Amino acid sequence: MTTSAAEMDISRSWVVELRTRLRTWYDADSRELPWRQTGDPYRIWVSEIMLQQTQVITVIDYYQRFIAAFPSIEHLAAAPQARVLKLWEGLGYYARARNLHKGACEIVSRHGNGFPRDLSEIRRIPGVGAYTAAAIASIAFSEKVAVVDGNVSRVLCRTLRFSGDPRSSSGVKILTEAAQMLLDPDAPGEHNQAMMELGALICNPRSPACGRCPVETLCAARSAGEVKLYPLKRSSKSKPHRNIAAALIWKGDLLLIARRPENGLLGGLWEFPGGKIEKNETPQQAVGREVLEETGLKVKVKDLFQTVEHGYSHFSITMQVYHCEYLSGSPQPYGCTDVRWVRVAELDDFAFPKANRIIIDRLMELQS
Ligand code: SF4
Repeated sequence: MTTSAAEMDISRSWVVELRTRLRTWYDADSRELPWRQTGDPYRIWVSEIMLQQTQVITVIDYYQRFIAAFPSIEHLAAAPQARVLKLWEGLGYYARARNLHKGACEIVSRHGNGFPRDLSEIRRIPGVGAYTAAAIASIAFSEKVAVVDGNVSRVLCRTLRFSGDPRSSSGVKILTEAAQMLLDPDAPGEHNQAMMELGALICNPRSPACGRCPVETLCAARSAGEVKLYPLKRSSKSKPHRNIAAALIWKGDLLLIARRPENGLLGGLWEFPGGKIEKNETPQQAVGREVLEETGLKVKVKDLFQTVEHGYSHFSITMQVYHCEYLSGSPQPYGCTDVRWVRVAELDDFAFPKANRIIIDRLMELQS
């Protein structure tokens, strides 16, 4: 069993050949992406955070809007968090947006207007792990540090026929060492991007295009006819499912919205009050109880407005949304951090999770 990359049969000539072929292919065939037109570490940081868990095609528009709104780290640091979350709405994993904002504030206060260059300093930025720090340091500052994201890991597992579990701590360590051995010291940023691009465009998870691959003749899995075996698979767990009841609490033409606590799932976003349907409880009973617990209001639960099925990254939900008539009480942020009465037309000024956005779109449709 391999315990380090040094034990792998990686020759110097193989490494040099791989770097050359990879780079030639990348220079000719890589995608023109907006964050590849800049050496600004702030913009590279924003793109890397957006690209965590999100596809390039989705990120492009968000990135361009975000950079147009906050062209520099000082602009981002000076913005209210609510505006940052609003621009992030729909991109998911909202902790990323909160960390970007927090990180910008910390960098501006700790480093003046300069982005930290040192790898250990970059890792201190909230939300920046080993991969993101290596990407920023190598792309923006030409630091000789290899990145290993999911794409690079897959390319390495196949080219080297790595038979360990790439997700285990020992697997990550060995693949990181191997990536470092392969890294082109003269152009670390370009090399890292080329490895990621190869994994994204050619050496993809389900149907790698080996016939078009620039490193086909160097690839051990391809030579052995065993591409499908790598990377080693692990069994997947199914996502948990939650049954939720939520309330459209009407007071004339005003609707009540509540802001979720900062920490936790979908933190800092706004929503229609509601929550989990408990055992032996009807959705209507859950709505009445949740509204009272969350805001202190008494409501009369009326008709079902809509049922929404939605899958988030770590769980899926069935959300039953009921019209409710306001009866009494003054709304208080008991189980949330803020409450507001707003008109339907104003809902677009707030950031909501995707499932609530489906409700808002329908409300707006009905009003138009
Ligand atoms: Fe991936 Fe196939 Fe290229 Fe090997 S030859 S790196 S398996 S695309």
